[in-house]
Amino acid sequence: MIFYFFMAGLLVFLYFSSRYAWWKRAVDYRYPRILMYHMVRDAIPGKKFNSLRVSPKNFEMQIKYLHDNGWHSYTMEEAILQKDTLPSKSVVVTFDDGYQDNLTHALPILKKYGFKATIYLVNDRHNRDWSGYRKAKNEGAGLKDEPKLSDDEVKALLESDLIEIGAHTLTHANLNALSLEEAQHEICVSKQEIEAHFTTACESFAYPFGLYSKRDTDIVAECSYTNAVTTEVGIVDLNRCDLFEIPRVTISGKDNFLAFWLKLRTGKRGIKK
Ligand SMILES: [Zn+2]
Repeated sequence: MIFYFFMAGLLVFLYFSSRYAWWKRAVDYRYPRILMYHMVRDAIPGKKFNSLRVSPKNFEMQIKYLHDNGWHSYTMEEAILQKDTLPSKSVVVTFDDGYQDNLTHALPILKKYGFKATIYLVNDRHNRDWSGYRKAKNEGAGLKDEPKLSDDEVKALLESDLIEIGAHTLTHANLNALSLEEAQHEICVSKQEIEAHFTTACESFAYPFGLYSKRDTDIVAECSYTNAVTTEVGIVDLNRCDLFEIPRVTISGKDNFLAFWLKLRTGKRGIKK
């Protein structure tokens, strides 16, 4: 009998260990954690992309934890400008695409704890279904129906002085599928339009779907962005990495608090992700 309890306990322990890789050492805390979010809203049962939906409750728990444990918040642009002197435990909160809940749900929480964020905005984001641009089977999966920020709402975010607006192409393009001219247009005009429309500097870029090639990192540099983030998972020293291929830490709507805590330490929840 005791043997079976022991075996059952061992199995649970092994499962827990491979799922959470709790023994892995934390990545040097002098390297900033760049967190990738999309929406701050409750999951929709039965829908795709719930990993992109972090509940307001979990988002507040995460930001409160960062605040209470001495993390320093920066926008992407600030982190790049101050990369030589960033203190230990620096964090950049980023949101991709430009969902309305970034204003209605995330901003009040960011304000409450004095945290900043960078939002990568798709210029032509209304009534556009980019779910299928990478995998045709995802078309119609619901991202089109998610409310996006109106231009006035983007202005309200900027007025909070906590938000940087970065670019994410005009149409959430799959850059790998575009010609050189099309890619230049998507990458460069998105910056120009944001700067003209919102009278703000647009220094930061995020590759849609994390898909890009060397050609695109060159375009991003030529269009005078100062930095670009990918969806590659990792925590790196900004003084020693390619500033046009900066990895991030993916925060999923499916992460419990332990997963979030582990991701802050190592960038990953378990061995692989
Ligand atoms: Zn995106």
